[in-house]
Amino acid sequence: TWDSVPLAPPDSIFKLTATYKSDTFPQKVNLGVGAYRDDDNKPWVLPVVKKVNEILLNDPAVDHEYLPITGLPEYTAAAAKLILGADSPAIKEERVVSVQTISGTGANHLGALFLSRFYQWDGPKQVYLSDPTWINHFAIFRNVGIEPLTYPYYDPKTIGLDYTGFIGSLESATPRSVFLIHACAHNPTGVDPTKDQWKKIADVVLEKKHYVFFDSAYQGFASGDLDNDAWAVRYFVERGVPLLICQSFAKNAGLYGERVGALHVVPPSKDAANRIKSQLSVLQRSEISNPPAYGARLVSLILNDPALFEEWKRDIRTMAGRIIDMRKELHELLTEKFKTPGNWDHIINQIGMFSFTGISTDQSLALTEKAHIYLTTNGRISMAGLNSHNVHYFAENLDKVVRG
Ligand code: PMP
Repeated sequence: TWDSVPLAPPDSIFKLTATYKSDTFPQKVNLGVGAYRDDDNKPWVLPVVKKVNEILLNDPAVDHEYLPITGLPEYTAAAAKLILGADSPAIKEERVVSVQTISGTGANHLGALFLSRFYQWDGPKQVYLSDPTWINHFAIFRNVGIEPLTYPYYDPKTIGLDYTGFIGSLESATPRSVFLIHACAHNPTGVDPTKDQWKKIADVVLEKKHYVFFDSAYQGFASGDLDNDAWAVRYFVERGVPLLICQSFAKNAGLYGERVGALHVVPPSKDAANRIKSQLSVLQRSEISNPPAYGARLVSLILNDPALFEEWKRDIRTMAGRIIDMRKELHELLTEKFKTPGNWDHIINQIGMFSFTGISTDQSLALTEKAHIYLTTNGRISMAGLNSHNVHYFAENLDKVVRG
């Protein structure tokens, strides 16, 4: 009985955190963490979240009934406005289908499941993922019978975007292929296309009639500005690219464990939207019946109250600002203090929570073994793990491993 079940390897990120926790070295640093930390390396409950928490706790009208299958309507409507823009033509034309999901992972799953069932596949079910991408994308698509393929994205030579490779893939893929594209703050590289590059990407996507599966897990986190970080999504909608968006409030509202997310599908007509919504309801019903209420209520309060919304924007600027400061400080230490060999401009050019340092697997392992600095072996560091107390220690040791 169960002899045929093989032992699966532990998730590498969660394993990294466990090893970090068991390390007793006082100056240890965790750069694997995918969550924001304050300057004292502590999780941060956003002040606006504390405030809405109080409001909810003291609201006698709050009960624990089920939400509708597609979620809290005032939450999903506000979430759609947040990503698409309050004056989005697609919203005005009532052709945006929004469903509350189990954070961004659930949105990816429901979006993938929906495509698996209902996309008009011309050939085998396949999705193009950026090389590299959030590692979970592979399993999420495989789970619903869609084979993941990759398109060139990151160029190790420039530690930047392989723009030519990306465009080349869009051009050579069979028409109507599905491309998963990170809306902003690409995970794991921190490398995003420029506005001019986005425009060209949209041109080719339209020409080849591809479908875009946007994953938006970091709106506001990249630049500190919610509108700026939604630019690519809004531009693609404006151009009439067929697409869906997976949205997460884990990072930008610090609600990781509350699992607040949404899937937004943007078809060309209201009629199609109605039909899509009916099918998403059927899928959602068999998967989770009803999404969780608590986090959605918190976010709904923030998004639907102008004063709280402004407060949230300030909190987002606090988080993004601290990360941008760390980028500057690390860059300055490497280039001016340690005069570390090589070009380190990518540290300040990349955006969002993560940075691809460009160091090798051996160098990454050496940082962990020699200096108790924990990071994934692809050289990715979480900027949120750096702070004014450890950035010098990190830069010094990075310098050492680069010099070999
Ligand atoms: N997409 C990307 C690109 C991510 O980086 C993440 C979080 N690591 C997610 C989706 C999903 O996160 P969550 O389910 O916590 O919202």
